[in-house]
Amino acid sequence: MARYTDSVCRICRREGIKLFFKSERCHTTKCSFERRAYAPGQHGQGRSRKPSEYAIQLREKQKARRMYGVLEKQFRRYFAVANRQKGMTGENLLRILERRLDNVVYRLGLAGSRPEARQLITHGHYTVNGRRVDIASYLVNAGDVIAIKEKSRSINRLKEMAENLGSLVVPAWMSVDADVVSGTIIRLPDREDIQVPIEEQLIVERYSR
Ligand code: SF4
Repeated sequence: MARYTDSVCRICRREGIKLFFKSERCHTTKCSFERRAYAPGQHGQGRSRKPSEYAIQLREKQKARRMYGVLEKQFRRYFAVANRQKGMTGENLLRILERRLDNVVYRLGLAGSRPEARQLITHGHYTVNGRRVDIASYLVNAGDVIAIKEKSRSINRLKEMAENLGSLVVPAWMSVDADVVSGTIIRLPDREDIQVPIEEQLIVERYSR
């Protein structure tokens, strides 16, 4: 699978928004975006022209794709599924992205960022309904219970996560039980539950060209 190997902070600067790829560092003054809030590269600080409609749509799609850590091919597949579902395609797309296990683990506070969640999932440290799931793109459903695997709770990073569980505010469509180090999907999210700075209509327009 293709992997992005450059500095992830460049992505935040490119998209003009903090995408929180680096757990704790993102909340400190060490955050690159806080220090250099302009696009990377030699023209990053140059005079910017008014972007075209196409460029605006493209940037919005790239922002969403990068925020959730999804490759183009997979993102297109999600869009096709969202398009076939009832309701607004853009909202359906965001709902699918939010249901990814790496996003859910991050939202529950069981990992510090989506990339970290992805790595920990791949290493098999989480269970869904008591069964180990090591696929970051796994889509959760209402009623699913996500937990740190019993054996993995002694790993320092995961121990830290477990100790802080419950101190974070989680979205209304999920709940956390700090005592048993787990989270439950109460229901699937509505658009109001998905607090992301994405204008999904622009993505729909981008793919409808
Ligand atoms: Fe983005 Fe985090 Fe890097 Fe800041 S520290 S630029 S939020 S990845």
